[in-house]
Amino acid sequence: MQPILPNHLAGRWQTGTGGGQLLRDPVLGEALVRVDAQGLDLEAGFAFAREHGGKALRALTYRERAALLSAVVDVLQQNRDAYYDIATANSGTVRRDSAVDIDGAIFTLKHYARIGATLGDARHLPDGEAASLSKDGQFQSLHVQVPSRGLALLINAFNFPGWGLWEKAGPALLSGVPVVVKPATATAWLTQRMVEDVVKAGVLPAGALSIVCGSPAGLLDALQPFDLLSFTGSADTAQRIRSHPAIAREGVRLNVEADSVNAALLLPDGADRADRADGRALELLADEVVREMTVKSGQKCTAIRRVLVPAHCYDAAAAAIAERLARVSVGNPRNASVTMGSLVSRTQLDAVHAGLAALQAQTQTLVDGTAAPLIDADPQVACCIGPTLLGARDAGSDIVHETEVFGPVATLIPYGGSGNREQDIGEACALIRRGKGSLVASLYGTEAATLAATALELADSQGRVHVITPDVAGTQTGHGNVMPQSLHGGPGRAGGGEELGGIRALNFYHRRCALQASTAVLGALATGA
Ligand code: NAP
Repeated sequence: MQPILPNHLAGRWQTGTGGGQLLRDPVLGEALVRVDAQGLDLEAGFAFAREHGGKALRALTYRERAALLSAVVDVLQQNRDAYYDIATANSGTVRRDSAVDIDGAIFTLKHYARIGATLGDARHLPDGEAASLSKDGQFQSLHVQVPSRGLALLINAFNFPGWGLWEKAGPALLSGVPVVVKPATATAWLTQRMVEDVVKAGVLPAGALSIVCGSPAGLLDALQPFDLLSFTGSADTAQRIRSHPAIAREGVRLNVEADSVNAALLLPDGADRADRADGRALELLADEVVREMTVKSGQKCTAIRRVLVPAHCYDAAAAAIAERLARVSVGNPRNASVTMGSLVSRTQLDAVHAGLAALQAQTQTLVDGTAAPLIDADPQVACCIGPTLLGARDAGSDIVHETEVFGPVATLIPYGGSGNREQDIGEACALIRRGKGSLVASLYGTEAATLAATALELADSQGRVHVITPDVAGTQTGHGNVMPQSLHGGPGRAGGGEELGGIRALNFYHRRCALQASTAVLGALATGA
């Protein structure tokens, strides 16, 4: 029998009373560990986090909390090798892909430690300038942001067990809000191990960091009005969460990061060359599409799913992407010649096959990865699938714009051909908008004015617009890489949430209040930090 990972709640380690759910190696099929949350007293655990963790964190200044984040970074750095081993075993990722999760987590935490240090010895944040409410200017309104006096429940998706924890927990702890994390069951081991290391190192106050692994049953019922819920996962689960009484009736603040059918767009080049796209831009697009299809086997919420190219570039784009995909080797991440590992579970593999079949019914298959030979892995056991490129000759088909296959799958879509460049770009933007709101779109071209105008045209439908031009080819951070300096989240179907974006991330964990008082009272706020 595999060991059950202990949960950390109410300041102590607690093992569920049930049999638990088994986590498996998705490549070798071996049983790893079990998780179980049955029988936990969630209400008591949440109360402990609010009363002890929250109180201790709020007693500290931003600078002191930033030092806590730095201490967490040190702990994670010291145990980094173990995290890589767990990621290989439980997520089936090659080292490069594990780094996105593990080193991405450490990088993001360091960023928030740096931000916190700049906020100094305060315990609340100013929010704009005072506005006079009286003719003599003596009575004023000043907005302040203060830490929420609840806990932050973080419910995460399976694809980022490391980064998904710390990109949320960093801003929460810096804000003075205690965290309870519920990782996705399939990959809960890495999250649990990181929490275990940090708790055992004793670098955070008791109650500041708790973890519940296993079934989410009862978690939302234990929330109270001043708590916060930050959810990452599918749109279906988000819908269930939105209608839970804690959200719908009690007003628990909710942030949702959900599905997204992200797009990459190759623009037609300058007006004088309206008949063709710039060759270099096309190469950059092909590089990025292949990276996005293959990193973490396409299991990234920000991955490129739709690739829009001018109709006359369709064949050239298909050939450029296919040539690069031919160099991808799929299989056991422990084999040094493998460049792409597996999906996280049999359930995910089945879901990818089903989504692919639905898309293939209305597209042509340009590169078929389903029959790709596997290196060092048994196709009957390993949850591996090669990258598949589809082609939609009919750009208007709904399914292409609405289906997120959470794996190494993208669809090439032609646009334009009217002979009018503005009209063609307008058509491409309209197609991108049929994704109903996305996390990120990337643009490829050479003409700054056209790229800037197109970025603004798309901005209300995207959380981020990533523009790749030849001059930044070597320095751009990647379509799908979420940088802590930039907003993460998207409107509409993407959930409507906002995370990261530098100091903006702290807004979710603070409450804004308008203080109406005399200038003398408002002036005393600065000294009463
Ligand atoms: P999921 O099935 O929706 O699960 C997400 C999390 O919700 C898991 O921790 C899950 O726990 C939990 N959960 C399930 N039912 C719940 C309920 N009724 N109440 C509370 N929590 C519940 O999503 P997933 O399969 O893990 O992740 C894949 C999806 O996440 C994709 O659609 C992807 O686009 C999206 N995603 C979005 C982002 C983003 O930032 N926008 C990032 C990553 C992934 P269990 O695992 O125990 O069921």
